[in-house]
Amino acid sequence: MARRWHCYVCGAVLPKNATRRRLYCGPACRAQAYRDRQITERIGALGRLLLKAVATDNDRLLRRLLCPVCGRMTYAAGSRRRDAKYCSARCRDRAYRRRRRQYRHVEASEKRAVPTGTTR
Ligand SMILES: [Zn+2]
Ligand SMILES: [Zn+2]
Repeated sequence: MARRWHCYVCGAVLPKNATRRRLYCGPACRAQAYRDRQITERIGALGRLLLKAVATDNDRLLRRLLCPVCGRMTYAAGSRRRDAKYCSARCRDRAYRRRRRQYRHVEASEKRAVPTGTTR
């Protein structure tokens, strides 16, 4: 049986005549692989930055590099989005929900504090 090659990115089976050097099924996957490689390099750079921040006690830099939700290293500093500060969408959602819960809590206590005769 002939060896079948799969796209490195999406796992699609490459055509039978694909050579060993052909790693991707198309330009989209090749571009994706290129982006992945760039991210890997960025993570390496951020890791070095984090080590430096720890060594020099650079709190501001540390805060930028660590996720405020789980405390893990976040790649937000290397993200295209300037406001990104969480390590993942999951942590962003968690922070969002936490904020909302706090807001609701404040809202509830304010309601309690307001003396009204219209109690339900
Ligand atoms: Zn592919
Ligand atoms: Zn996180």
